[in-house]
Amino acid sequence: MHSRLQQDLEDFPQILDYTRQLAQTFLAGLEQRPVCPPAVEQQLQPEDKILLEEGRGALATLENFWQRYAAGLSGSAGPRYFGFVTGGGTPAALAADWLVSTIDQNSLLSHDTIAAAIELATIEQLKTLLHLPADFSGSFVSGATMANFVGIAIGRQWLGQQRGIDVAQQGVGALGPIQILSANAHSSSVKALSMLGIGRTALKNITQQADSEALNITALEQHLAATPGIPTIVLASAGTVNTAAFDDFPSLLALRERYPFWLHVDAAFGGVAACSPRHTHLLQGWQQADSITIDAHKWMNVPYDSAIQFTRHLSLQMQVFQNHSSYLEAPILRPDNYLHLTPENSRRFRALPLWIALKAYGRSGMQEIVERNIRLARQLGAALAASEGFCLLAPVNLNIVCFALTDVKGDAETARDRFIERLDHHGVIRCTPTYYNGQPGIRAALVNWMTEEKDIILALRSMQACRPDTSSSLGKTPLK
Ligand SMILES: *Cc1c(COP(=O)(O)O)cnc(C)c1O
Repeated sequence: MHSRLQQDLEDFPQILDYTRQLAQTFLAGLEQRPVCPPAVEQQLQPEDKILLEEGRGALATLENFWQRYAAGLSGSAGPRYFGFVTGGGTPAALAADWLVSTIDQNSLLSHDTIAAAIELATIEQLKTLLHLPADFSGSFVSGATMANFVGIAIGRQWLGQQRGIDVAQQGVGALGPIQILSANAHSSSVKALSMLGIGRTALKNITQQADSEALNITALEQHLAATPGIPTIVLASAGTVNTAAFDDFPSLLALRERYPFWLHVDAAFGGVAACSPRHTHLLQGWQQADSITIDAHKWMNVPYDSAIQFTRHLSLQMQVFQNHSSYLEAPILRPDNYLHLTPENSRRFRALPLWIALKAYGRSGMQEIVERNIRLARQLGAALAASEGFCLLAPVNLNIVCFALTDVKGDAETARDRFIERLDHHGVIRCTPTYYNGQPGIRAALVNWMTEEKDIILALRSMQACRPDTSSSLGKTPLK
């Protein structure tokens, strides 16, 4: 054995101890850590770009990494990172994620590890949590992008099946043109269309409702009536990233009776609202979808990367993803035969953090996070609406505040970008830009388990301090 490996084998306990100390330091400072570290801190030193001939061992290397680069890490797992849709990691999920790397199981088959059984049990518990019926099966993938990819891939196979074509064997070309209909498909689904050979131009944008990002059902019906016989997938939203708008699932289901299509629901974060009795109505009817996407690393507060794809068409899924080889087990239709159901071959034991988190906090723990985030988002929205210099671009539907600056001098987009730059520099909250109804806007998405009322107060103060005409008075106020 190489001398460094030998040394590290002996030092294993110290290495783990030191790592635990680093983790503890990081977590203790998480609330104070800037959400957007300065660009200089995000630069790698030249010598760290070069492969070493002689390694330095784990302890020295870890220490060196921490000393040089800890300042370049964002507090994105903390309570005031409202950019994109960014979750953190609850203590149980984080601890389990450590163990996942430690125990290093290859979670593809069920013969030599308990991993697949735990994954299956996690999926079953999620179905209970989110009120999904028994005929759904699911598996863990790396993110909602991959869950959308899997859902659309199974949909593509179904479109073929309806026409006596096996797309998995014959290729997507055998199907001829396909149309993908959506009002506000997430960009990751558009990427999936490219990866699946369907093509980005297959996406036909259906108009949204006058007062919401939800799909206009009448417009969809007109489009379906005008394109008879064209293989169709409808990409529905359960929570758009701008305003958390939900499509009208009962109306989509009624349309599906008359115009057969595959219904995929991107519920990356919005689907988690199903765990709250106050919000389940938003998802009414989604149980009848053909495939569903849920992220675990957003509102379920599991560390990256983790998501779940659900479908009620297991055998079609296996047609797409089966993996034949003389050295692998033959595909058998089982919901836990992950080797034959997911894009990956070897797989991380991704289910464990969510399984542990669900056991640690239960259904009511998840509900509390969701309801607290929604309450705080509404509070932030109301405060911004009442605040000079800000307005809401849309009502706060759920956990996302979509707002804009008012009374800006000059170009609205430039002012918006400057505002976000100042927020980043201030380091107290992170928001990300968007466009809503053609207007430059700003999004604050609340999905972190640690966010409390004090964070909303700090957020408002930072926003007010970073407004274009008040920013000159902006100092680096230390966080309390
Ligand atoms: C975040 C998000 C995605 C992409 O998810 P990743 O986990 O980043 O791959 C897709 N759809 C929606 C609605 C999202 O919010």
